Amino acid sequence: MTFSAEKSEAIIEALLSCRLRDARFPAALEASWLEEGVLQLLPAHPTGAVVISAGIHGNETAPVEMLAALLASLMAGEQPLSQALLLVFGNPPALRAGKRYLHSDMNRLFGGRHRHAVPGNESRRAARLEQATAAFFQRVEAEGDLPRVHLDMHTAIRGSRFPQFALIPFHQHRYGAAFYTLLAACELDAVVQHTAPGGTFSHYLSDAFGAQSCTLELGKARPFGQNPLSCFAAVDSAIRALLAGSALPARKQPPMRFFTVAQSIIKTSSSFRLNLDPSVENFTQLPAGFEIACEHDKSWRVDDVAPWILFPNASVAPGLRAGLLLKPDLSPQH
Ligand SMILES: [Zn+2]
Repeated sequence: MTFSAEKSEAIIEALLSCRLRDARFPAALEASWLEEGVLQLLPAHPTGAVVISAGIHGNETAPVEMLAALLASLMAGEQPLSQALLLVFGNPPALRAGKRYLHSDMNRLFGGRHRHAVPGNESRRAARLEQATAAFFQRVEAEGDLPRVHLDMHTAIRGSRFPQFALIPFHQHRYGAAFYTLLAACELDAVVQHTAPGGTFSHYLSDAFGAQSCTLELGKARPFGQNPLSCFAAVDSAIRALLAGSALPARKQPPMRFFTVAQSIIKTSSSFRLNLDPSVENFTQLPAGFEIACEHDKSWRVDDVAPWILFPNASVAPGLRAGLLLKPDLSPQH
């Protein structure tokens, strides 16, 4: 893997102390900072537009380290760039604090939802990231009708039977076979298709700009410096090949598993109770008939069609999702 821990530490340090604005890039690249931690890089004749984001949740550090290493390679001229590229370090104040967020979960605030959120760091930052991505795609339009791809990298709170997976937002435009080939080259274990709009960054880029977009869950969240980076080697290699415009690495793992969301468990009151042990992993298959959650006058039961649980979390605020039940997607739509 081309990851240099030393360089990435220096870059994260520089990023968090806002010194990166002085960074130098190869003369062939037009570099501009659209916001703190948001870098636009344009080669002379881009063949596509790519947004790579990390740190939308400030405690999910492994993807930030990976992005910092990629940035180091770009600055050194070691990473060829054939795509218009927007690198997004999502939430610098939360990264500095080592917290998921300071005031509210930013990955629920996109698509204008920040206007109705608690005013604070994340509502401001979500608005600025929307403006920066709009400016990027507007600039890209001048280069022609380029394919648009967005990967938003995260790590999960709990363990997972399928350690690395993609969540594809609800979308009405076509996602091409090349996008799924990219996910396969990342050696992901599974792909989950959402069936309803949401406030995620990946949904926003898909919905507002027609990007083929997904959230990548790449393993468990750990503090800076404690991430086993070999786990991210395949994703890193696939992203580097995408940016270089070279052939994607061949997949070595068994084929990806495809799922689609069958039921969203939405907590509506403080009486909500989740009948799952906190140690239950994502993609655990639950028995049919099991009462997974209840509220004063409502109950959610597992059926035999959609028994896989994803992101169970009873401690979300009322109105938010406390878990998803998945069914297999036997003929995934592109
Ligand atoms: Zn996250």
